[in-house]
Amino acid sequence: MDKRILTGKKREVKVKKLKIGGNNPSVFIAGPCSIESKNQIIETAIRLKEIGVNILRGGAFKPRTSPYSFQGLGLEGLKYLKLAGEKAKLPVVTELMDESHLDMLLKYSDIIQIGSRNMHNYSLLKAIGKTKAPILLKRGMCATIKEWIMAAEYIAAYGNENIILCERGIRSFDSYTRNTLDLAAVPIMKKETGLPIIVDPSHGTGLKELIKPMSLASLACGADGLMIEVHPDPKNALSDGEQSLNFEEYKSIVESVNID
Ligand code: PEP
Ligand code: MN
Repeated sequence: MDKRILTGKKREVKVKKLKIGGNNPSVFIAGPCSIESKNQIIETAIRLKEIGVNILRGGAFKPRTSPYSFQGLGLEGLKYLKLAGEKAKLPVVTELMDESHLDMLLKYSDIIQIGSRNMHNYSLLKAIGKTKAPILLKRGMCATIKEWIMAAEYIAAYGNENIILCERGIRSFDSYTRNTLDLAAVPIMKKETGLPIIVDPSHGTGLKELIKPMSLASLACGADGLMIEVHPDPKNALSDGEQSLNFEEYKSIVESVNID
């Protein structure tokens, strides 16, 4: 890896008034996998704000394995997400899947998420590199550390250094968990890029009972925050219900990591 913009210098990313990375406190990003209705996302935003969340997440354009699964509410979902963020006074993050949606997402979302499946989509990385928007760059599920660093470099090379990395687990030979959460990547990526890095133990494990221990482990190894899927009624969620926490379960994680 010869030419690089992102080297070890500690960086922080500003999202409205919130600062992520550097020496700032851990950030809590939470919300449903998918925005399902106006009431669902507004209720979630208000409850999560009370619990202490800093950023609301919710997918409007969903990268589903099956074309027959719920694909997200699209533009309607973006409108509900923005409204929910305004009501709860929380910045919001949602995933960009298609370059043609970029201008639309920039109107509704404070952070643009690049999902695991698109970490290698270089034209998408170039397009978001030309914006100034904060980017949440998830690790590709089969991406090496070097490939992930270079994906971040693509964004930086095109002019945008407002990048937050997100370790979300990689594919391994083991199918007990949905993915294998690679926590060694946290200190490695911090050392290599200086960028803020958060961990997503929801996709990283796929198992509710592992979210608390892996959240604690993530912060212990230097993560700058956590992104966790939370749903008012996980059993009836339209996507990723089996790994989603309800408000009480999530609150217990925030409380346990907040004890210093
Ligand atoms: C998500 O955050 O809902 C998501 C689809 O994540 P990933 O891209 O990590 O699979
Ligand atoms: Mn999900």
